[in-house]
Amino acid sequence: MSSTPTLSSAGYAVQRSRSVERLVAGQATSDGAGVKLNRVLTQQLQHRLDPYLMLDAFGSDNPNDYIAGFPDHPHRGFETITYMIAGRMLHRDSAGHQGLLENGGVQWMTAGRGVIHSEIPQQEQGVMEGFQLWLNLPGRDKMRQPWYQDFAHADLPSFATDGGAAVSVIAGASHGVQGAVTREVTEPLYLDIHLGAGGRFAQTLPAGHNAFVYVYRGTVTVAGTAVPLARMAILSNKDAEADGVVIEASDDAKVLLIAGKPLKEPIVQYGPFVMNSQQEIYQALSDFRDGRLGEEATTTGEHA
Ligand code: MN
Repeated sequence: MSSTPTLSSAGYAVQRSRSVERLVAGQATSDGAGVKLNRVLTQQLQHRLDPYLMLDAFGSDNPNDYIAGFPDHPHRGFETITYMIAGRMLHRDSAGHQGLLENGGVQWMTAGRGVIHSEIPQQEQGVMEGFQLWLNLPGRDKMRQPWYQDFAHADLPSFATDGGAAVSVIAGASHGVQGAVTREVTEPLYLDIHLGAGGRFAQTLPAGHNAFVYVYRGTVTVAGTAVPLARMAILSNKDAEADGVVIEASDDAKVLLIAGKPLKEPIVQYGPFVMNSQQEIYQALSDFRDGRLGEEATTTGEHA
């Protein structure tokens, strides 16, 4: 169990908030075996929001929108981070991992050189809501061993501030609290921030890092710009004086704040494979076709 200390915001003040460069509504789409979702971070934004490749938001109380889930499919070259707000999803993969993701839990999976996995809802009714974020791997790590960890909500580091924010730290560090996962090269920051009426939350951000906010309850204001429900606000990097972001809410609101250090490497995506070159994509396709993707992890049993 994690404790939830109330921390003073004093040592973590932001002198000047980044502004909102653009509001993004995302694209309604379906994936897997017909799961309806909103693709908030689309392929067109991969360079602007490097090192992030995708953010999907799914949320429905209609089982027809989610029941078929995501049957066996491969990944290579990046990491998937699934954050379940409501509902239950069972994960199984070719590296021998299995885990039930539910109510507030996070699953962090590093596909590396390859996994084949399924993500199947474990409910026939009720609300299914959550997010899947794709974080790129640097070229040198794209063919590393797969890795996987589940975090129950109670195991996510969390804190409250005297500014009226309750924060879960999924990745990176905030207000001196280390998150569940850290990564050296991309330095991902992934926070789930719940604000009460009149709440305010400040987070320092390195100038070169790309950052965005996604609102999933209520509305918030960032540097004078209203960010409505179900919108992503891309935070500007242009103001060299801006040392972070300040998020304010006049009523209850919940937002994700996601930031990271861009890789500035070529991004070549073909469906579930994200590599640095077309040649590496051909290799991934032929490895998958020939049953070599995910094979080593299965046969060694190293991660089972
Ligand atoms: Mn997947």
